Amino acid sequence: MDDVVSRTASSAAPPTAPDPLESHTARLQGREALLRVLQAARQKVTTEGEAYLVVINIADTKAYDEIIRIFGYSFADNIMDIRLAALEIQIGHLTLHRVGFWSIGFIYAPARREQPSHFFTALAELLRAPMICRGIPIPIRAGIGICDLFKGVGSTEDLLQSTFMAGQASSLSGHGWTLSNPDIAQDHRRAFMLIADLGDSLANQTAFELNFQPRLDLRSGKCTAVEALLRWRHPQLGPVAPGEFIPIAEMTGLMRVLTDWVIARAVAHTIDWHRKGMALNVSVNISVRNLDEPDFVERLSALIGKFGLPPKYLELELSEARAFMNPDLAKAQLAALRALGIRIAIDDFGTGPSSLDYLETCPADIMKISQSLTRAMKDRPRSKAIVKSLTAMAHELGMQVVAEGVEDKHTAAQLTSWNCDFGQGFLFSRPLAPTAFEAWYLAN
Ligand code: C2E
Ligand code: CA
Repeated sequence: MDDVVSRTASSAAPPTAPDPLESHTARLQGREALLRVLQAARQKVTTEGEAYLVVINIADTKAYDEIIRIFGYSFADNIMDIRLAALEIQIGHLTLHRVGFWSIGFIYAPARREQPSHFFTALAELLRAPMICRGIPIPIRAGIGICDLFKGVGSTEDLLQSTFMAGQASSLSGHGWTLSNPDIAQDHRRAFMLIADLGDSLANQTAFELNFQPRLDLRSGKCTAVEALLRWRHPQLGPVAPGEFIPIAEMTGLMRVLTDWVIARAVAHTIDWHRKGMALNVSVNISVRNLDEPDFVERLSALIGKFGLPPKYLELELSEARAFMNPDLAKAQLAALRALGIRIAIDDFGTGPSSLDYLETCPADIMKISQSLTRAMKDRPRSKAIVKSLTAMAHELGMQVVAEGVEDKHTAAQLTSWNCDFGQGFLFSRPLAPTAFEAWYLAN
């Protein structure tokens, strides 16, 4: 550790590695103690003036992983202690608490005539300095979360959590500090409630249903496929958008159960339509997390076998190929699915993390052009050029193209003139409940 020093301490004395017996980290108080002083400080703040809860995120977790990879554990292990040694020079008079692996929390009550903003700026300045290893500066991206106790609402746990999250946001944004937002705690409570209730809803299976959005063959104008879109009616909150609950399900083991449920329902409806003479393809959104499940292909093939749907009628839509935890397993499963005859669509292409090397990583049969690109076509000539070129490129790669978000006739006509194969969007129909879809299909 001799070669690890903190530049921040250099203004006071030549920094040295901490003596393990004198470890600053070991002297920190814990989170419970901070919650107690936080409680007391909140009570005092109405009568005795300003006070702030401050949570310092010593290093960004991603930066920490990089540091371990490049410089090794001994360097990484001592970062906290070295930073604390530097902090003690500036805020040694305050009681510091360890509130997370990388986080230090304390209560700051400005002295009379002291400007809190000066204090926070000086703290941010101190933390901005990189660690030095063998003469090389290494940014560790510290961040500061601040909660004004006069304004803070919710329980002490909520305040600590939202301030902790503000510290993390500050690390990510690179801003000196970030004020905690009570909405963060509120969002967290809602997310927590959703996770708990998602499991219950899945167990009794009454709160979920599928809607189907038609996909039209642009040349013939006929509906040849539908996309299954999940709907959740929460018992207390009412309808919750998939954009909110799918990312939550992805953080838990529930994505597996949820996808199985969606595929089973979508396949059952499709079989029913086939029996009624509506020979439709059905397309289901899956999560990248599903491809990290080693038995995904096996389960899926058993499921469609049970319903007796020929695999060529099923399509799986996948976005964000980069987020695979195990890319080799995911690629092998994608290949196995295609070998079974199931078609793979790259969803939302053209925005977010999708890029051209995605087309290499994730060999697919269909490209779905993101609705934001299609919708922008009517106002932005560049979006038009992009959609036209993407269509040609996908065809060159042997893929069919679906333009999502078709909302007006002019856009549909342009897409057709560029040989785009399919269109989906509010111009044709919004997603519909199964019976409403049947009625729409028969009327069109
Ligand atoms: P997505 O796969 O891009 O689905 C299309 C979304 O665009 C749907 O929103 C649909 O209602 C909306 N949309 C379709 N046409 C138009 C249009 O012309 N204009 C506009 N403004 N919007 C249009 P929805 O149903 O809220 O779904 C949002 C996202 O949630 C989906 O985006 C998909 O990523 C995810 N999702 C939905 N159901 C499932 C599911 O069963 N499993 C998984 N993993 N994800 C799902
Ligand atoms: Ca989709």
